[in-house]
Amino acid sequence: MAFYIQKYGGTSVGSTERIKNVARRVAKFHSQGHQIIVVVSAMSGETNRLISLANEVQANPDPRELDVMISTGEQVSIALLSMALMELNIKAKSYTGAQVSILTDSAHTKARILNIDEDKIRKDLQDGYVLVVAGFQGADKTGSITTLGRGGSDTTGVALAAALKADECQIYTDVDGIYTTDPRIVPEARRLKTVTFEEMLEMASLGSKILQLRAVEFAGKYKVKLRVLSSFEDEGEGTLITYEENKDMEQPVISGIAFNRDEAKITVSGVPDHPGIAYQILGPVADANVDVDMIIQNVGHDGLTDFSFTVHRRDFSGTMEILKNKIQPHVGARDVIGGDRIAKVSVVGVGMRSHAGIASKMFRVLAEEGINIQMIATSEIKVSVVVDEKYMELAVRVLHKAFDLEQVVQN
Ligand code: ASP
Ligand code: MG
Repeated sequence: MAFYIQKYGGTSVGSTERIKNVARRVAKFHSQGHQIIVVVSAMSGETNRLISLANEVQANPDPRELDVMISTGEQVSIALLSMALMELNIKAKSYTGAQVSILTDSAHTKARILNIDEDKIRKDLQDGYVLVVAGFQGADKTGSITTLGRGGSDTTGVALAAALKADECQIYTDVDGIYTTDPRIVPEARRLKTVTFEEMLEMASLGSKILQLRAVEFAGKYKVKLRVLSSFEDEGEGTLITYEENKDMEQPVISGIAFNRDEAKITVSGVPDHPGIAYQILGPVADANVDVDMIIQNVGHDGLTDFSFTVHRRDFSGTMEILKNKIQPHVGARDVIGGDRIAKVSVVGVGMRSHAGIASKMFRVLAEEGINIQMIATSEIKVSVVVDEKYMELAVRVLHKAFDLEQVVQN
């Protein structure tokens, strides 16, 4: 007998028919004697619908009230799923995040989980219940409802698995695992049987939207056994996120190609090249709560240098304004230019640690296609380039082929 946390995303509970399907799947595991806590998202589209309602009333919705509202999507799902389970003669009970005592900080719309009260949950499990817990939400110490950021139900699942020491946290979604790249762009993309936690972390932060980044970080911190599976297929083992590197000789150097269209590039040119300049430019950007991704500072010439970085596309115009109005006059930069028609393409793989030449191979392959590289960033297990958005898909395709990801011998 095992103890599973099973998380079902919005598409998997997108209609009452689908909810009944999830109930049948949960019932199957339950009848095999496993203990199960189910975490569900709101029905697909519901959270977006709620957010736009709020926007109709308040231009910048009050975060506390927004949380009160957007947490209701999940509340509908948990009740419906519990009912569906009862129809299959299974003892089921639903809980909102606050009811099950998921304590968070008070950072509305992006709260962090601080503690989960186990007692109630343990008792229900012992009494033979399937628990159905609302994802994406908790309550702070004053009892105000909080939410965990878009995609936050993944984090609820992982946090429950960590707190209760579940055997596995299974993330059921509309794809059957983590792929070498998005199959919509490269039809030959293959499902990975395993992916290391570090690779998953890179892929999630590089824009693969399958798992919320915070959920992956959480899983890593507590070494939660995490598996991504399809909720639409009965068979299939999905992709397991592992914490050990596979030392197999056949293990490919590169595990996947990630990409992200959500970025924009900004260059501050002709800045005086003296100590403190990076701070003077990026300090005010950070103060405006804008996350900066890649940063490049050029070698100085004649006492001047250029400084480039990328931000999320939605922060582009706000950041340009800060730079033009506050920073440029202050530091005496020549110009601030930028563009939001860029994309980032990355090759990721822990095998890079023991193999040289990955970056140069990547650059050669892109050059052969005439794709210009605008920026480069590397870490121990990834090489990222910024290219014109219109070449993104081509870049992903040629790299996928060049790194033999179609024919990889799977571990
Ligand atoms: N319903 C929330 C969202 O759409 C949380 C989730 O689906 O994980 O972001
Ligand atoms: Mg999701």
